[in-house]
Amino acid sequence: MVGMGPVDGFPADPVRPVPPDEILVGGRWRRGGGDPLVTRDPADGRVLAEIHATGAGDVDEAVCRGHEAVRLTRDALPHERARWLTAIAALIERDAEGLARLQTADTGKSIGETRALVASAAGTFRYFAGVAETLEGALTPPRGPYLTMSTHEPIGVVGAITPWNSPIASDAQKIAPALAAGNAVLLKPAEWTPLVALALGRLVCEAGLPEGLLSVLPGPGPVTGDAIVRHPGVGKVSFTGGTATGRAIGAIAARKIMPVSLELGGKSPTIVLPDADLDLAVAGILFGIFSSSGQSCVAGSRVLLPSAMYDEVLGRLVAGAEKLRVGPGDDPSTQVAPLVTAEHRDRVAAMVDRARADGARVRCGGAPLPGPGNFYPPTILDGLPADSAACQEEIFGPVLVALPYTGEEELVTLANATVYGLACGIWTRDYRAAVRLARRVEAGTVWINTYKQFSVSTPFGGEKESGLGREKGREGVLAYTRQKSLYWGLDERPNPWAGPV
Ligand code: NAD
Repeated sequence: MVGMGPVDGFPADPVRPVPPDEILVGGRWRRGGGDPLVTRDPADGRVLAEIHATGAGDVDEAVCRGHEAVRLTRDALPHERARWLTAIAALIERDAEGLARLQTADTGKSIGETRALVASAAGTFRYFAGVAETLEGALTPPRGPYLTMSTHEPIGVVGAITPWNSPIASDAQKIAPALAAGNAVLLKPAEWTPLVALALGRLVCEAGLPEGLLSVLPGPGPVTGDAIVRHPGVGKVSFTGGTATGRAIGAIAARKIMPVSLELGGKSPTIVLPDADLDLAVAGILFGIFSSSGQSCVAGSRVLLPSAMYDEVLGRLVAGAEKLRVGPGDDPSTQVAPLVTAEHRDRVAAMVDRARADGARVRCGGAPLPGPGNFYPPTILDGLPADSAACQEEIFGPVLVALPYTGEEELVTLANATVYGLACGIWTRDYRAAVRLARRVEAGTVWINTYKQFSVSTPFGGEKESGLGREKGREGVLAYTRQKSLYWGLDERPNPWAGPV
């Protein structure tokens, strides 16, 4: 923080994880060797903290110490690993309120949302403790005089690169399964929101995780993130962020022949069928796009409405959007909090201006609110062709685009008419139609009569340019392992050449 004390307005107690002015390099806290990184409160623009970011030497040391830690903990039993993860979960729960407030200050998100994200992070560590204890290899059917086994081994040192929109939940989703599988993790949080990752690092150390298994390395993506991805000692990268960045990371990984998991952007459709319960659908659509102020990879940013009911449903959506309470994240009544930075708010505003120039009707919102703070109101656009920028590109703000459809074929074509394939919502009472559509839409997650609900035991990821691989679920751990096959010979003469020479 500016002047190295606690974040202004956040007393040391009860907010225990006071963010440090240091980074965690292979188990040691110290000032990073990189340039200073300033983080601001999105609600009023004040400087929250100045971190000494990670330098190239820090990445190198974190990798070396990570490999050493993996070597030293290679024989840790599954229940020992589970104990580390459970202890981390307990400390997150102990400091839940402080972590939520810290994340609200850093990201601008509403306190209700950040409390939910902290609870989800604790749940993620607990869940993967369970997976660590119960993960099994396989005895495969032999096809000769031998026993065959398939086992899972840690990759070694893995990079975890996360975005700013839901930091603690994204961080937990990568750290917990990677540790459960026996790896060391280099966590690179987004440069706009490094504080909660550093606070989590403090808790992980307090929980007794062996030194070197976690490094927290804040810094600019093209510098620190790039150094992690390119480092020859990093054996896998799990990345969550924008599709352009994911593509660049994937290209480097291809050259290294290194596995990557990519959780990328979206332009998810929400579909209203003619028989939908409109009260539920309207509330669900508004929540799906305007919660987190639209800064959510799964934001339902396109709504597809039957032509015959278009004006009625759109009218209800506009009336509902205009009633949403816009305000600072720390006000419990806020429904739409500020955007993460002024720069991001200006980007959202520019995309809405472009839509206007493309012929959009602005049904509500459509311009930033006066400062201080990065406020942008809930905005609904329509009258645009499906191939316009506002219907194709991820705006990552509180902007919904409405499109009419006639019949199921046009609906499916419109739903799939983007490069993305992350999520989809379907509102209907007709379960046969829901199943038919769910099978035909190109999306990693389909919500039927609900939206934006998540379970750590259910795999999550994207299709098409929304990503590669899945997180969460038991398979979430396997993404951080290498599979090895073992053959145990049972024959006295295991091959024709065996015998006295
Ligand atoms: P971003 O791609 O700009 O940054 C994400 C992370 O990557 C940050 O930590 C950043 O510092 C780092 N980074 C940037 N350039 C890098 C490089 N060249 N090499 C290595 N690392 C680099 O994305 P963002 O703006 O922080 O986040 C918003 C995006 O994330 C949106 O597109 C959103 O849809 C996506 N997202 C996806 C999911 C998902 O699960 N699919 C979840 C949340 C957010």
